[in-house]
Amino acid sequence: MTKPPMLTAQQALEHLLSNAKPVSESERVAMQAALGRVLAQDVNSLVDVPPLDNTSMDGYAVRVADTQVPGNILHIAQRIPAGSVGTTLELGTAARIFTGAPIPPGANAVVMQEDCAIPEGSTDQVQINIAPTSGQWIRRRGEDLTVGKAALMAGTFLRPQELGVAASAGLTHLNVKRRVKVATFFTGDELSLPGEPLKPGGIYNSNRDTLLACLKSLGCDATDFGIVPDNLGATRDTLRKASKDHDLIITSGGVSVGEEDHIKPAVTAEGRLDLWQIAIKPGKPLAFGAVRKSEDLKDGEAWFIGLPGNPVSSFVTFLLFVRPFILKLQGREEAQVQSYPMRADFDWSKVDRRNEFLRVRINPQGGLDLFPNQSSGVLTSASWGDGLVDCPPGQTFKAGDMVKYIPFNALLT
Ligand code: AMP
Ligand code: MG
Repeated sequence: MTKPPMLTAQQALEHLLSNAKPVSESERVAMQAALGRVLAQDVNSLVDVPPLDNTSMDGYAVRVADTQVPGNILHIAQRIPAGSVGTTLELGTAARIFTGAPIPPGANAVVMQEDCAIPEGSTDQVQINIAPTSGQWIRRRGEDLTVGKAALMAGTFLRPQELGVAASAGLTHLNVKRRVKVATFFTGDELSLPGEPLKPGGIYNSNRDTLLACLKSLGCDATDFGIVPDNLGATRDTLRKASKDHDLIITSGGVSVGEEDHIKPAVTAEGRLDLWQIAIKPGKPLAFGAVRKSEDLKDGEAWFIGLPGNPVSSFVTFLLFVRPFILKLQGREEAQVQSYPMRADFDWSKVDRRNEFLRVRINPQGGLDLFPNQSSGVLTSASWGDGLVDCPPGQTFKAGDMVKYIPFNALLT
């Protein structure tokens, strides 16, 4: 049997991304329903934000020139609370003004109330103790958003702050990409669902909950087709069912080339498949292909990605390969995984020709600690950790060296 080709992580990712095409359909949803969705169209602001020059402090709106006079006492000629509009500031006068209120015509600075005093016995005069500079404490009209200009770009993943930007632009609804539809199933005769008794030699299916939750975090619609026994017929049947109405099928387990591994022959029979050995640890084998939705292919294909069965391997390969693929299907812009330089507070002396992804967490000293057991079966390493160190092939390092850190948080949205 010929050995599958060995790819670098970057080659595997590029191959996946070059195949993924964004879904074309979109839908219009109310603002709160758009959380976690992907914007399908630029959002142009309906208004200037702020709508007028306004004050960012409680205090007095003045003409800077008037505050240079000896004594600096000005007549308070008007009062402008937020939500009302003042009149032109007469020479030698000040306007009492409150945060968010528009600057009256003629004023060119605000003096905060802490820098002023009311002369003894006066009710309509203010003494300016610290002369302002021109433009002080004034927020300019349109400095946040400009009417008719893009406030948010198509392809943006919508977090709470993007919903706020869209609301400040005056929108009630957003056009978002339809959700990517993903089918999952889990291969392995040893698997049971939690709540069921374990078979002799059995283990619980943990990948199901990890992967379904990953898909939920990414805003996908997921359908689980359950645990599929290690045989060709059952695997092919489930593939056929899962291909209907789904953009992507994700499985775990059975992607090696042992006689109990049926993913490769099953997907090959129902579509097409590349089986890759990726030079990463954890998570070497990864299967990528497509399953026909109908015999004559007139309904197209569902993409197929087969992850390794070991729980850490399937989680890490999901984050590194499946997530960027899904992002691209969703039409999101930022498909590449971002790493940050961080200080390792541990030595790493095991040379491996594979690119290793170590489970680590940030310590209070601002460095990274390593989880002691890096086995691909020990899922508590990922739960203890807050991210991965991307350790290039053949590399070792010492405590104090800078390494590439990838936070889990950034990969779960
Ligand atoms: P496989 O990739 O099928 O050779 O499985 C590799 C290892 O992962 C074996 O020890 C399996 O028992 C384990 N495994 C496979 N699928 C799952 C799963 N869904 N949940 C937990 N462990 C699994
Ligand atoms: Mg198996």
